[in-house]
Amino acid sequence: MTDLERHERSLVPTDWTYAPAPESTDVVQLRERYGLFVGGEWLAPKSGTYFTTISPRDESPLAQVAQAGPEDVGIAVDAAREAFGTWSKLPASERAKYLFRIARILAERSREFAVLESLNGGKPIKESRDVDLPLAAAHFFYYAGWADKLEYAFPNRRPRPLGVAGQIIPWNFPILMLAWKIAPALACGNTVVLKPAETTPLTALLFCDVLRQAELPPGVVNIVTGAGETGAALVDSPVDKIAFTGSTEVGKAIQRRLAGTGKKLTLELGGKAANIVFDDAALDQAVEGIVNGIYFNQGHVCCAGSRLFLQESIYEPALEKLKERMATLRVGDPLDKNTDVGAINSAAQLERITELVEAGRAEGADIYQPPCRLPEKGYWFAPTVFTNVAQSYRIAQEEIFGPVLSVLTFRTPEEAVEKANNTPYGLSAGVWTDKGSRILWMTQHLRAGVVWANTFNRFDPTSPFGGYKESGFGREGGLHGLEPYLSFE
Ligand code: NDP
Repeated sequence: MTDLERHERSLVPTDWTYAPAPESTDVVQLRERYGLFVGGEWLAPKSGTYFTTISPRDESPLAQVAQAGPEDVGIAVDAAREAFGTWSKLPASERAKYLFRIARILAERSREFAVLESLNGGKPIKESRDVDLPLAAAHFFYYAGWADKLEYAFPNRRPRPLGVAGQIIPWNFPILMLAWKIAPALACGNTVVLKPAETTPLTALLFCDVLRQAELPPGVVNIVTGAGETGAALVDSPVDKIAFTGSTEVGKAIQRRLAGTGKKLTLELGGKAANIVFDDAALDQAVEGIVNGIYFNQGHVCCAGSRLFLQESIYEPALEKLKERMATLRVGDPLDKNTDVGAINSAAQLERITELVEAGRAEGADIYQPPCRLPEKGYWFAPTVFTNVAQSYRIAQEEIFGPVLSVLTFRTPEEAVEKANNTPYGLSAGVWTDKGSRILWMTQHLRAGVVWANTFNRFDPTSPFGGYKESGFGREGGLHGLEPYLSFE
């Protein structure tokens, strides 16, 4: 086939060529070394140990970051406990003012945060700029509004703060997860010790500047950096609550450790979402939703639509459109404003994705990857789709947390529900159909905390998010997101 014939056959051009449009990094001023942010000050870790945080786009070192041990975590919890006395007694409208200030400063400095988020985490700048940062600021705005209205949110229940909240967040949405955790905790009158993920600590450390700029009283928010052991030390410390987002395995370990301690716990864990497309769906829109569902943030998304269920009658046209759309995805430098799929977050995550993709091949699935040139340095994985997938394959059961889609088929709504629910997870799902009644029926039968209809990966601070089964418990966002940070009489 000649190029011209191939071009005429395809519904969309497949050879988009864009001039590079790199975002400048000048706006970010990194320090050589970061301590622990405790009691409003930067402290050196007791062990004197620091680790290097890098950029996954080219493996270049960015800064040295303190490794907090149990003693450091203890000091941070003490600082939070001391601050709780005054913070929890402030008039709620005063607490709200601090949250509004933080929201405004985050919005004002959003470019600086977005560039740093992409540098340290590998996500495309257009996502950190247009999704992560606006949403993070929106969470602070939203929960600022609730701070002095808790009595109305929970009438006759006399809501009170819990005390010190220990919060552990992952590397896929570093600043957004920080906002999801800190904003409701502070609105309810708690103080916080937060541990960012080892691979992406820099925006949390930059956030400490925002706290100082907002003149938040010292000790209300403390940031301790380190790896899993630091998280484990926080779990074991005398906090009143642990809020964890991360893998199901670590979530289970935390739940075991906290059993019988009286500490409150919320867990937001993994997922293996079904994105279900019926034959009456608007196919072009559905294809956009499929692409957004799995390739957004390189698939490093707990609610990613990683299992695509196509109704048999549209299997071929849908797959053809999907492959054509995949061929237009631009994979590469996260700091290029044209990039759709950025760098994989770490060497360890790349290894995990590669291992599961190899398992998919070995089990007999067919793999498709559009032609794309991956940069030589850094961590990269091409957008991937597997067809001929059986429900029992690892790629249909396990969370890959990468840009890898498994396609399965169904004939009836009942079969779609049965297959979609055939997973230990229950975080999210998507339904694409023209019929409102079918959407309602599907949402009633899918065991998922969030079900999107004719869209995917939509987030809003007013809307609760969380899972069933091995995807965890407790809700973040909305009115529901306040409850885990309160006790009631
Ligand atoms: P983890 O669950 O290990 O990491 C999440 C957070 O918990 C990080 O801050 C981590 O620290 C910390 N942590 C690790 N071990 C402990 C512990 N024993 N006690 C307390 N805190 C701990 O996820 P990974 O980064 O290892 O990713 C592995 C897999 O987990 C991914 O491939 C993906 O499938 C899934 N995942 C799911 C997420 C979600 O949003 N549902 C988010 C991240 C991962 P540190 O990173 O510094 O080691």
